[in-house]
Amino acid sequence: MTCVRAEKYLVALVDGELHSTWRKRALCRHLHQCAACRQSLLVQLRIKSMLHASIQREKVPATLQYAIQKRLAEEMN
Ligand SMILES: [Zn+2]
Repeated sequence: MTCVRAEKYLVALVDGELHSTWRKRALCRHLHQCAACRQSLLVQLRIKSMLHASIQREKVPATLQYAIQKRLAEEMN
């Protein structure tokens, strides 16, 4: 997988719109090898958290980040 494609999948994942198991697995494999895209995932999560916080005025970033990291960890096993 290229970083460009991984970036697209990352955005979809953070938005909860990456439904294909195959794509999630491919993304996980890429994230395993690519520090730049792991960093990008953290950035996406932070942006998402900030948007969420400003729209809903609710503090959910930690749980959102935890949920996504947990899901990724499960996919990698
Ligand atoms: Zn990459």
